[in-house]
Formats: sequence, structure tokens, C-alpha cells
Amino acid sequence: MSKSKIICYNIDMSTRKPTGRQRQTSKKPAAARKTGSYSKTKKSSKVYIPAYKAIILCLFVIIICLVLLLVSTLSKTGSQSLTQDEISITRRFEDKSEGKEPPAKETPKEEVKPKKTEQPKVKPAEPKVEEKTEQKPEQKVEEEKEEKPAPKKQGFGFAKASRSAQLCFVFDDGGQNLDQLKKFLDLPFPITVAVLPQITHSVEAADLVRKSGNEVILHQPMQSVNASIDPGPGALTPDMTDDQLISQLFVNINQIGPVAGMNNHEGSGITADAEKMALVLQMASENGIYFLDSRTNVETKVPYVAKELGYSYYERNIFLDKEKTRENALAELKKGLALANKNGSVIMIGHIWSADFLPQLLKEAYPELKEKGYTFCVVSKSNALKQ
Ligand SMILES: [Zn+2]
Repeated sequence: MSKSKIICYNIDMSTRKPTGRQRQTSKKPAAARKTGSYSKTKKSSKVYIPAYKAIILCLFVIIICLVLLLVSTLSKTGSQSLTQDEISITRRFEDKSEGKEPPAKETPKEEVKPKKTEQPKVKPAEPKVEEKTEQKPEQKVEEEKEEKPAPKKQGFGFAKASRSAQLCFVFDDGGQNLDQLKKFLDLPFPITVAVLPQITHSVEAADLVRKSGNEVILHQPMQSVNASIDPGPGALTPDMTDDQLISQLFVNINQIGPVAGMNNHEGSGITADAEKMALVLQMASENGIYFLDSRTNVETKVPYVAKELGYSYYERNIFLDKEKTRENALAELKKGLALANKNGSVIMIGHIWSADFLPQLLKEAYPELKEKGYTFCVVSKSNALKQ
């Protein structure tokens, strides 16, 4: 109320001053003169100028201004966020064109678009490269297959076979190591494998050989001349009676059988014993299996006994791995080829424990041997039988 009084007073003062000088100075605005609003305001000012209304009006105006400011700021921030999104999208496109991964906030729809633009650029180039790389190995393999035999033919220099000479390969000491055995079973021609009885892998080795389509024989341990050498389990020894010897053979054959034949492991002592070998040849003949003399002793009585009693047998011609080297094996193989050309067939014995070089050598030699006219067969199907 005090404020309104003060204002009323001021207004009275202002109205008094013009009234005193109104005619002389005529400082009133022209509009006021014409409309006469000036005199009206003088009257209304005394009645209608409450301060609280002016304050409310001011506050209202201020509020409107604040609202407008808020609206303007919000619209600005919205536009700024949009521009940021647009910037981020453009950056994303730029990043993808450079091969970088998009940020995690991006939507999957936007991620697909740049990929589509990239794929057609890459796709036409990639298939061309793949086709070329796929064709190259095939061409190389074909070239290698054709080229490989050529150096072998020139390198080994095997003599031509006479009358389709037969090559019989026998590998002794089967049953000791299956991994080594498998390398021989992978050879591209039929082989005979002699399996030792009563050792860890005897049965499994014999089964593997049979399943591979190759020939199994019993690698019968026999006492050597040097009595300190242990021929292994299931061996024939000089102190055995005839029955013991025969029963030992049956036990061994039944374990790894069926077998096509047998040969001797060690055995320089027993094979030089005519009586013992007579029993062995008799047992083999009666049971339809052959005996292959490994000829571990030049004093072997097998030829003599067989001739005297009318048994047939086979004998080893070549040891491929007396010296455990590739060079020696190749030299022995060439000796075997000469014997095959002379006699029509040859029996060459190697050992499973030569798996680190012998199967590879024979695999390499096979194409040339075949081309030169040699034939390959297991012992039982060869014409090497001696009668
Ligand atoms: Zn042996």
C-alpha cells in the first residue's frame, strides 16, 4: 500500500506540473492532444495503476521470454544432436570405406549399406584369384605325377625284366611295431609279412596284414648257433623233444593263423640240424603250409632234408637291409633283379624295422620296375618253389 501511495503521489506531481505549464510549454505529445488520452490517463492513473498488476505483467513477460528461450535452446540442441548423428554416419561410411569396423552405437541397417557397396568391389576380384589358385595345384599335381616317374626311370636305371620276372618281397619281424608295419602295407604291390609269435602285437599285426590283402606267414623263432642269443618267445630249441617241437609250432600257428607258410627267425642252429628240420618240413607239408628258408646259415640242412624226404620249400635269395641304408638296399634290389631275370623269380627279405627308408625306396622304384616288365607276387603264388 505504501508503494501505491508513493506512485499515486508521483503521478499527482506529474499531472500537476503539466497542468501548470500546459498552455505555455505545450510539451505534451501530439497524439495525446488529438485523442485526449493524456487527460484520461491522468484520471485513470489515480484509479488503475496497481503495482501488483504491473509486477504480474512483468513476471508474465519474463516467463514468456524464459519459455521462448527454453524452446529455442531445445530446438538448437535437437538440431545439434541431429548434426552429430549425421556426422557420425558420415564418419562411419568413411571408416568402412577404409576397412575399419563401425562404432558399437551404430544401427545394423546402416552397417549393411556400406558392406553392400564394398562387396561388389571385392567379389569380382576374389573369384578370379581363387580360380587361379585352385587350378594351379591341380596342374602342379598332374605335372608332378607325370614328371616324377621320369627322373626315377633315369635315376634307378633298372634292367629290363626277362620273361616277366617275379619279385617276391618278404618283410620279417612283424608284430613288434604296428606303425612301421603300416608303412609296408601301404606299398602298391602285394607283399608277404612274417609275424613273430607271442609278442605284444602278434595277433593285431597278422590281422592287419590279412585285412590289407597281403600274405601272412609265421616267423618261427629258432635257436641260433650262438646259444647266448635269445630268439624270443615260442622258439624252437635244440633240447626240445619231437613232440615239444611240433606242439610249439601248432601253438604259434594257432595264435596268428591262418598262415600261408612260415620262415625262420634267427635259427642258424636249428636250420643246421637235419633231424629238427625234417620235423618242421613234415609238419608244414602235412598242414598245407610252405616253409621258406631264410638262410641265416650257409650250412642250412633244409635243401638236403627236403630233397631226401621229398618236400618242397622256398629259400631267401636277397637280404635288402643287412646294412640299414637306402644305398645298400638299392644295391641289393638290383642284385635281386639280376637273379629274377636269371631264374624267373627272386625272394627278397627286408625287415619291418627298416620302415624309415625301405618302404619309400620301394614305392619310388615300383613305377620303373613295373614299366620294365617285372611282376610282383606273394611267395605262395610265385614260381620260386623248390622241389
Ligand atoms: Zn627275424
